[in-house]
Amino acid sequence: MIDYQNVIDTIHENLRDEVNRGLVASYIPELANIDVQNFGIHLRFLDGQTYGTGDWNKKFSIQSISKVLTLAMALSRYPEDLWQRVDVEPSGNPFNHLSLLELENGIPRNPLINAGALVIADILVSLLENPKEDFLNYVRAVVDDSTIVFNLEVARSERLTGYNNYAAANLLKAYGNLTNDVDDVLDFYFHQCAIEMTCEQLTKAFLMFANHGKCCLKTNQLSPSQAKRINAIMLTCGFYDEAGEFAFEVGLPGKSGVGGGIVALLPNHFTISVWSPGLNMKGNSLLGMKALEDFTSMTKLSIF
Ligand code: GLN
Repeated sequence: MIDYQNVIDTIHENLRDEVNRGLVASYIPELANIDVQNFGIHLRFLDGQTYGTGDWNKKFSIQSISKVLTLAMALSRYPEDLWQRVDVEPSGNPFNHLSLLELENGIPRNPLINAGALVIADILVSLLENPKEDFLNYVRAVVDDSTIVFNLEVARSERLTGYNNYAAANLLKAYGNLTNDVDDVLDFYFHQCAIEMTCEQLTKAFLMFANHGKCCLKTNQLSPSQAKRINAIMLTCGFYDEAGEFAFEVGLPGKSGVGGGIVALLPNHFTISVWSPGLNMKGNSLLGMKALEDFTSMTKLSIF
């Protein structure tokens, strides 16, 4: 029997004084103020066992991790023709790259790069009566936690500097793959990215992907087939141009965000999240990647 508390404590201890921990995202000014020393890990098994170490209970900006949750909400409420507006191929490019949009007629490579997430945001803006509020309530329901909120300063900060996202949304609009106003879609997108969660809330949010669509309350949020597909997309596209590296080193479906969070899972077993705000050159948490690599090496728990 593995002593999981000991495993994550050891990983935390070995990495917590690391000097080379990457750079905090500064292109969203509000994120530049986060202390790079923060470092937390949380692990949750389907049978209810949980383990936390370090800053596992501090809130941080989930940023692109939210793209998996908007995809889950859209997929559970929208028929399969969602896949006619966004593809399921890895991009091999940074998260905010635009070139493939032009080459591929405004169909984003996948829903986890920014352009793809903007199409999913557009779908939700069309579908929901009060898009931001309804999405926030969906996240609260999935996590069974009504304390989850948007950080409005982060959303505002990104709106003021989100030139790349404005460019992507305008390109999508030009290609006829955005039905709502560019500003409305971006307002929704900046807010979804500005949701704050702790490592503990994140492992709860992602239980539905590890448990065939059933969330922490055991209610069905997704069909087993939808959960399977989202896991496949996380594995192949969850880390942008580092998805191959993550599969190679860690071997779990997962998703990163420029707030420094990473959440990953082993279907039928567990979800795990790590937060360390310093990012590597590809925009993924540097210590987060290392911690997860150590976790699957020490426990031999990966999909491979
Ligand atoms: N809100 C960020 C952006 O659109 C999300 C990017 C990320 O977390 N990789 O640039």
